[in-house]
Amino acid sequence: MGETAAVVRRLDGLGRLVLPSELLRTMDVRPGDPFELFVDQDQIVLRKYQPGCIFCGRRGDLISFQNKRVCRECLAALAAAT
Ligand SMILES: [Zn+2]
Repeated sequence: MGETAAVVRRLDGLGRLVLPSELLRTMDVRPGDPFELFVDQDQIVLRKYQPGCIFCGRRGDLISFQNKRVCRECLAALAAAT
């Protein structure tokens, strides 16, 4: 993954960071959107929260069914099992 121009922001007294509005626009992020934070070696990674397949956890190419997300592989396995 390539890195674009770095933006330096200081943490405030409550541990908050303000994300640049241009970044929010570019990433299609809106107030109230959920994020997940995790640590990858010596980095803190901030990622838009997108729940994965309810069976295998895979992300991307998911089909929504009754408010649950299922990937095509699990959907095919389900279909084969019925
Ligand atoms: Zn799956």
